[in-house]
Amino acid sequence: MSQIKRLFLILGDQLDIQGAALKGFNPKTDEVLMVESANEANYVWTHKAKIALFLSAMRHFAKSLEDLQYPLTYIKESPQSIVEVLKQQLRQKKITHLVCVEPGEWRLKIALEELAKDSGLQMEMRNDDHFFCSHQEFVAWTEGKKELRLEYFYRLMRKTHGILIDADGNPEGGQWNFDQDNRKPYPKKGPGIIDAPASFEIDAITQEVLAYVQSAYPDHPGSLEHFNWPVNREQALKALEYFVDYRLRNFGIYQDAMWTDTPFGWHSILSSSLNLKLLNPREVIDAALAAWKKYSLDLSTIEGFIRQILGWREFVRGMYYLDMPKMAQDNYYEHQRKLPQWYWTGKTQMACMQDAVGQTLKYGYAHHIQRLMVTGNFALLAEILPAQVCDWYLAVYVDAIEWVELPNTAGMALFANGGRFTSKPYIASGAYIKRMSNYCDSCKYKPDVRFGEQACPVTTLYWNFLINHRQQFEASPRTRLMTANLKRISPEDQLEIQKHASKLLNHLDEL
Ligand SMILES: Cc1cc2nc3c(=O)[nH]c(=O)nc-3n(C[C@H](O)[C@H](O)[C@H](O)COP(=O)(O)OP(=O)(O)OC[C@H]3O[C@@H](n4cnc5c(N)ncnc54)[C@H](O)[C@@H]3O)c2cc1C
Ligand code: SF4
Repeated sequence: MSQIKRLFLILGDQLDIQGAALKGFNPKTDEVLMVESANEANYVWTHKAKIALFLSAMRHFAKSLEDLQYPLTYIKESPQSIVEVLKQQLRQKKITHLVCVEPGEWRLKIALEELAKDSGLQMEMRNDDHFFCSHQEFVAWTEGKKELRLEYFYRLMRKTHGILIDADGNPEGGQWNFDQDNRKPYPKKGPGIIDAPASFEIDAITQEVLAYVQSAYPDHPGSLEHFNWPVNREQALKALEYFVDYRLRNFGIYQDAMWTDTPFGWHSILSSSLNLKLLNPREVIDAALAAWKKYSLDLSTIEGFIRQILGWREFVRGMYYLDMPKMAQDNYYEHQRKLPQWYWTGKTQMACMQDAVGQTLKYGYAHHIQRLMVTGNFALLAEILPAQVCDWYLAVYVDAIEWVELPNTAGMALFANGGRFTSKPYIASGAYIKRMSNYCDSCKYKPDVRFGEQACPVTTLYWNFLINHRQQFEASPRTRLMTANLKRISPEDQLEIQKHASKLLNHLDEL
């Protein structure tokens, strides 16, 4: 054991007592530091529920460390940044050795590295062991590849970790991917009864945090009224157990489906627990595999779920560290418009946006297709500056940490990196939203009308986008098909679409 006194810094999204953050901790010489910093809540205009979740989870974690008699300094409600507090603590305690796990935000990683360099601090920055794939493995996989695509990375992960691989080394069920089975809308009459998500006790710690957030951040977006997020390991385990027992069975088939006032569908709602490290992705995958056997669930559902965690979650993290800091600045289409104000209020006449933004403000949650094909799709078609869109996503979702938010927003939803890891922009007209939801039934706009008073803004902006980028889309075999339907629209109508689009784009706040 080390005899040198070391300070172990534990960040708000590193709350695993068994994880890399505390490995080798020597209670005789070492100390733990945790910091609640107002900076973290203010550098984007953070949803109240997200602030509350982080603070409550940190305080619960601190309590479990104290119960185990770890020597802990816990700085509550500091107006300073984490690095400023850290500097003071190191000075006061005369500590020259820092141990931490690599932060999930580039800016903090760089700030810690600079601190170490400038002050001669000995820093051990450890790999985060809540991922299957290390940075070195990811970089090795990218080498020599012209295209970086999830599908091939995912297959490698399956093989390397022996997940859903049969005795002969082939993918279970003879296929790597069952995505085609996982794109159904809900039945015409609606989703029927969906087993409600697990619910959690608001204990004294959470109550105190909720009151604090309400008084310290009264003007921040979002509501605390519906706060129901796991804030400690026990609750996160309950959420996992509940999901695999009751909700996993329909996860796959309705993964892309949307319906008014159905905020969670059959989704797992585990992202915040995974990202705060209350759950390890290995145990989540093991639980899904066990439920597959126990309840004889469809392979397509299990594969679909595992692909999100072993595939997408690992892939976007690899891309984030590979492409930062450029990823945060990329703006392939050079879009410059301001994010419409209603992204912060939900007060828009578009029923799809009203529902997706509305539930986001209520819970700090929207599922993947709402994020990608409703709010993300609109932001791309409406030519919004990527940095503003990314700040919004980072602010409003309780699971948002930059390593996962940024690649999904800039890379997937906005195509801001010009297709570094997606083959084409994810864009759709109102017809897609109509097919996958009931939103259009109650909307003042009509999804199939392309211009004029009743035209669906998503549809108008979709065709406008295709017209504007027609040449570029036609130049590539991957996107050529997308413009094929343009040929069926007369030049006169295309002109009307462009005129109507220009009106919309100049008055986005009024939609
Ligand atoms: C524009 C945009 C922004 C996003 N921002 C975030 C974010 O800040 N934080 C975040 O965790 N996810 C983000 N995602 C991915 C995804 O939408 C969420 O992980 C998911 O909606 C969380 O809900 P769930 O736990 O019910 O997930 P489920 O649908 O039940 O999926 C299971 C798990 O798979 C993982 N997962 C699924 N899709 C992705 C993905 N594309 N990337 C990484 N992991 C994935 C998550 O850990 C999730 O908990 C974003 C997606 C888009 C399109
Ligand atoms: S008509 Fe258009 S704006 Fe209205 S809900 Fe449908 S897709 Fe959204």
